[in-house]
Amino acid sequence: MAVVDNIRQIREIMAEAAGRSHRSPTAVRLMAVTKTVHDDRIAEAVQAGVDIIGENYVQEAKRKLETMGKPGEWHMIGRLQTNKAKYAVRLFDMIQSVDRMELAVEIDRHARAAGLVMKVLIEVNVAGEETKSGVPITEAFKLIRAVAPLPNLSIQGLMTMPPWFDDPEEARPFFRALRELRDRIETERIPRVEMQELSMGMSGDYAVAIEEGATIVRIGRGIFGDRHP
Ligand SMILES: *Cc1c(COP(=O)(O)O)cnc(C)c1O
Repeated sequence: MAVVDNIRQIREIMAEAAGRSHRSPTAVRLMAVTKTVHDDRIAEAVQAGVDIIGENYVQEAKRKLETMGKPGEWHMIGRLQTNKAKYAVRLFDMIQSVDRMELAVEIDRHARAAGLVMKVLIEVNVAGEETKSGVPITEAFKLIRAVAPLPNLSIQGLMTMPPWFDDPEEARPFFRALRELRDRIETERIPRVEMQELSMGMSGDYAVAIEEGATIVRIGRGIFGDRHP
């Protein structure tokens, strides 16, 4: 199916799920995840109204931005090496994958040099999977308290990637755990910490994520079809 048709169908499912969680359809934004996707297909998604692009790799994003200009917002969602923070700060509008102090310090330092305040999400490894990035849920408070005072970085919320299941219902407890963590952090009213964004839900499980409170869903294959690296 064409990119535009996929997006139309996804938006319908998103609106229904938002309704089930008693929220407006405009409370949830669609990110197109574009790793390995060609520029012309990305342009089709932008044409269809997608205004957030998610990239996993600094190099790939840099090349695409050079040829495409910058339609909409670009968010970094992949594991970020500390020594690439400098480039990430120049390229992206938000870094969703901050999961350690060392990385936050580098982002802050380069954001200061560039004269900007970088929006970030704290990536949480809710299931404690060893192969995945993200701060363990038990360490999240400590990390957020440590990162919060960095002046050129602004925490906007949380991001997670739960384990993969055939049945998306099995991912629900992990989405719920992230929302509950968000609620607990909000109650603490830590200075400079905003908790308006919950980035969770991918092609297979975004409806469940929205029911549990997602504000950004990150969809690749559902928009562009299977990836051919
Ligand atoms: C690839 C990726 C996605 C999108 O996954 P799909 O299954 O293609 O929708 C979302 N989030 C992250 C962090 C990813 O790396």
